[in-house]
Amino acid sequence: MTRRPDGRLTHDLLSEDKGPQDACGIFGVWAPGEEVAKLTFYGLYALQHRGQESAGIATSDGERILVYKDMGLVSQVFNESDLESLKGDLAIGHCRYSTTGSSTWVNAQPTLRPTKYGSLALAHNGNLTNTGDLAEHLQRQGAPVTGKDSATTDTELMTALIAGRDEKNLEASAMAILPLLEGAFSLVFMDEDTLYAARDRHGVRPLVIGKLERGWVVASETAGLDIVGASFVREVEPGEFVAIDENGIRSQHWAVPEPKGCLFEYVYLARPDTSIAGRGIHVTRTAVGERLAAEHPVEADLVIPVPESGTPAAIGFSKASGIPYGAGFVKNSYVGRTFIQPSQTIRQLGIRLKLNPLRDVIEGKRIVVVDDSIVRGNTQRAIVRMLREAGAREIHVRISSPPVKWPCFYGIDFASRAELIASGLEIEEIRRSIGADSLGYVSLEGLIEATTIAESQLCHACFTGQYPITIPTDMSEGKMRLEITPVRGTI
Ligand code: SF4
Repeated sequence: MTRRPDGRLTHDLLSEDKGPQDACGIFGVWAPGEEVAKLTFYGLYALQHRGQESAGIATSDGERILVYKDMGLVSQVFNESDLESLKGDLAIGHCRYSTTGSSTWVNAQPTLRPTKYGSLALAHNGNLTNTGDLAEHLQRQGAPVTGKDSATTDTELMTALIAGRDEKNLEASAMAILPLLEGAFSLVFMDEDTLYAARDRHGVRPLVIGKLERGWVVASETAGLDIVGASFVREVEPGEFVAIDENGIRSQHWAVPEPKGCLFEYVYLARPDTSIAGRGIHVTRTAVGERLAAEHPVEADLVIPVPESGTPAAIGFSKASGIPYGAGFVKNSYVGRTFIQPSQTIRQLGIRLKLNPLRDVIEGKRIVVVDDSIVRGNTQRAIVRMLREAGAREIHVRISSPPVKWPCFYGIDFASRAELIASGLEIEEIRRSIGADSLGYVSLEGLIEATTIAESQLCHACFTGQYPITIPTDMSEGKMRLEITPVRGTI
């Protein structure tokens, strides 16, 4: 449940059945003469799957930066007149799921701060892992003001660090601060005239550059370029900083790249119509499904996906196994956040609010049901129960990722270690717990092979516990708790 500044509460109807939650989607555009706020709105619309708690857009007309942000989906936050009022030559936008700091208006992005030269607006996808050190650095740089309305995010901290730096311009300030940041961060930021983008040295979270006829776009995923008609140019490289203005793109490296792209982007996070490293996510997920069928064959009558993220892997499973593919569930795409408080009866329906089985298709059949991952196991338990009630004769669950055993500290909120079903149970125990007739996960090797990326260039810590970026805090609780000195926002 989230409180808006106007006092209204929004309710997440599926909060008890949450799967992995992504951190954020970010978008930036430099295009004088275009309606940059509307381009950003549609860019965020395409990136909505990456964060549904809040949305915001900052624009600049060359004189001043305006920020508009609120709790809710992109389509709930902005209306036509809001976008009309956000005029300018460049803009950045953000849709958020909170991984540090609570889900409140003050933590929505973009952040905004005054600088020596004007203003800085910033939007972030990822999670910093050295916020304690950074907060100390900020105090040395000039202590932050604190107060009850303060923002509590790592994003606010890095905004304050860059804005407070006393260099010859904002570009130099960013180049001085970026090497101090540890963890995962893909950034878009802006002053009154220039759009900037940067990516951590490991390139954990994606970030791509696109070209408009009269301008440039930066987005979390290529799907964010497609929706505004921008053509893909290249990825922002790990450890790279780019500046975009009337002189085109300027690039500098502030760190030697050590790529460790997030493997889970391929499993679940990225849209299927997005490409990473030149390969479409849909093709990769289909290949994972083929591999899953080879690793965990079964005799069955029908392969069905858990929509939507299980769909490509189910298609691949069907292709490789020869078992017919079909839809077994209808998804209610419009269930999500609402201002209507759900009754206890509705809450107990859980996943049923979102998925409804097609009884005529399922009854009497041996079903293979393909899903992308198992986090707590609640969703899969409910799915198996629904299929049994719909008359399935056998239910074989196939998962297109290895068991998720470790929490993510780089911007994805799975759950604490204690909540992850695979951290405490063996596969046979998980099968019994969810009530399936059989259960098979794709191997790590199979998943990595399908991405066509070398293992050494990927983060797979949530499957293996091998964290590529040092985690400073005590892991015994299983989930990182960031202690950040509150920093007053300036909006
Ligand atoms: S731990 Fe998992 S979700 Fe997090 S960055 Fe690594 S692969 Fe991605």
